Amino acid sequence: MLELHSHTTCSDGSLTPTELVKFAHQQGVRALAITDHDTIAGWDEAIAAALPLGLEIVPALELSTVYNGRSMHILGFYPDADTLRSPLQARVEGRKRRARTMAAKLANLGYPIDLPEFPGSMAPGRPHIASALKSAGHVKSCNEAFDRFLKDDGPAYVPYEKFTAEQGIELLLQCGAVPVWAHPYIFRGGTVETILPGLVQAGLMGLEVYHPTHSPSQIRKLEEYCHTYGLVMTGGSDYHGPKKEKNPDFCDLNNLELSLNLLPPLKAAAKKLKPS
Ligand code: AMP
Ligand code: ZN
Ligand code: FE
Ligand code: FE
Repeated sequence: MLELHSHTTCSDGSLTPTELVKFAHQQGVRALAITDHDTIAGWDEAIAAALPLGLEIVPALELSTVYNGRSMHILGFYPDADTLRSPLQARVEGRKRRARTMAAKLANLGYPIDLPEFPGSMAPGRPHIASALKSAGHVKSCNEAFDRFLKDDGPAYVPYEKFTAEQGIELLLQCGAVPVWAHPYIFRGGTVETILPGLVQAGLMGLEVYHPTHSPSQIRKLEEYCHTYGLVMTGGSDYHGPKKEKNPDFCDLNNLELSLNLLPPLKAAAKKLKPS
């Protein structure tokens, strides 16, 4: 089976790339995309761990961009690592600055936290701030941290440093990566119907049709958009590690049981972008 959306400790997942690969193999996954937020630091370890298991690693990432002032995630599949490394490091440094700004906001609100060290190309995110709030005893759970402080427009929320969806799509295309709009129905800055034509114009090549947050009718709608605009379909569980708390938005690895048949069209789209 196929799993095209997962996170490791290189961003806000809780399993290392090796642990994730072993778990995916146990769960019956045959091809796994590692899609860490703004970093490709997990690939090498994942590929090394997957080789003896016969598991295929789909090299990928999840870019954080801003559209209409709201967070928009764009997945990129099969990027050229060398071309991407330096622009991505700038994004990761931006995430580190953002984490420090959120910590400073929390301190001002009377909730100081100990921010962990974030090594090299590791991309920190709000879940790390949530954990630090929990460790400091300010909240009982990470869900509470999001509800009280970190949710969009929450008192300690800080948006990503400005990087538009169009810029993100352009960067991915330059690196030979297939840009795919992640979980479109989570987006809060407008309707999918009105936004999609502009993104396609900007070079978007696919939609993440299958995601645990999408309802059956939303999935049907996204399948229709893919046919209308000639976009590739992807899907995945957006796995962040074993559940410590009940969070209805996230589910277990390979819960969607997606067919490997989604992979050849994605590979064909990537091939079109590579110089022949
Ligand atoms: P960031 O990219 O730093 O803004 O963080 C986004 C990540 O936070 C998502 O990928 C989820 O892993 C996590 N997240 C978002 N909303 C919530 C929530 N309400 N509760 C727990 N985790 C969340
Ligand atoms: Zn995440
Ligand atoms: Fe996302
Ligand atoms: Fe994700």
